[in-house]
Amino acid sequence: MTLFDNPEYDSHENVIFCGNAEAGLKAIIAIHDTTLGPAAGGCRMWRYGSEAEALTDVLRLSRAMTYKNALAGLPLGGGKSVIIGDARTEKNPRLLLAFARHVEMLGGRYWTAEDVGIGMRDVEDVFAHGTRYVFGLPSKTGNPAPFTARGGFEGMRAAVEQRLGRKSMSRLRVAVQGVGSVGFELCKLLHEAGASLVVADVNTEAVRRTVEAFGAKAVDVGAIYDADVDVFAPCALGGILNDATLPRLRAVIVAGVANNQLADPKHGRMLHDRGVLYAPDFLVNAGGMHNASGDILGAYDAKDAMIRVQRIYDVARETFVRSTEKNELPEVIAEQIARARIVSAREARAAA
Ligand code: NAD
Repeated sequence: MTLFDNPEYDSHENVIFCGNAEAGLKAIIAIHDTTLGPAAGGCRMWRYGSEAEALTDVLRLSRAMTYKNALAGLPLGGGKSVIIGDARTEKNPRLLLAFARHVEMLGGRYWTAEDVGIGMRDVEDVFAHGTRYVFGLPSKTGNPAPFTARGGFEGMRAAVEQRLGRKSMSRLRVAVQGVGSVGFELCKLLHEAGASLVVADVNTEAVRRTVEAFGAKAVDVGAIYDADVDVFAPCALGGILNDATLPRLRAVIVAGVANNQLADPKHGRMLHDRGVLYAPDFLVNAGGMHNASGDILGAYDAKDAMIRVQRIYDVARETFVRSTEKNELPEVIAEQIARARIVSAREARAAA
């Protein structure tokens, strides 16, 4: 399959294939849309089955970044990169540096960061030696988890208001799948707001500290889908809303921060048809991006970033209201809002 025939191509502005034989580098940088600003999105290192698979993944991910950044109201476009290889056995400083030099050659059209297989330390300790165009640095904007959790909380608050007609989170019953960096912080916010928690994680230590800190009820990893709750909050893996799990959900809202929660777009329709309000992941998990973008946009201030994260409530509210009015999926409405922002920026530029 060629690039232009790929169903995920969607008029990407640039797709750059990056190689370095000595370092063993094979990577792809995809820049989807820079109307709102330089393309920003992380770099994933993954053992893809084929180059075609890597291409499809990077195109899908970079387009999602366009929507995420536009919905967040950030002056940033969408881009993403993938390094083909096994991060556990093939990642080394030479390879990462070779990749970073390709990013540098783009002169700031694309900014890179961490993603699956590439940690924040890789970005700070290696990428940053090869390029200026890196963001999400531990020494600058720091840990994004509290910001992502706050955004997830705000998105959930808007969903609760829409679906349950409740302004308060007090006595709300929430099942949190995955209590790692973000899940734990989300539990903290929910606990402070008076919600009761059911949690599951493959890491028993993570479960223990959440139970101790917030009085959460722990269930087996496989049992979290069956929890008798109002809200299911995926905060671990992607693809967990699928044919096998959807019929088991008792929650009427799904709102969490995990990336790519729907195994397939059809599962968004299935949730809708079952009367479950789905808060699109790319809308509610943008809090970390609000924070990390300080490395690109400059003049970083953590308090300002947190204030901007709280606006995720407003966008989520607008999305859910329109979704109800038009009987359209929230993820479709959210994409429409993002696209409208890009189109109006293009028109404003053309008129200037
Ligand atoms: P993390 O690795 O700190 O936490 C993930 C947790 O999920 C871990 O505790 C892990 O043990 C647990 N887990 C793994 N498999 C599980 C399973 N089958 N069932 C239950 N728990 C399981 O990661 P994180 O930074 O908290 O991110 C969580 C999710 O949110 C990821 O999908 C990530 O891509 C997404 N996300 C994170 C951020 C951020 O700021 N960190 C921003 C946007 C999106």
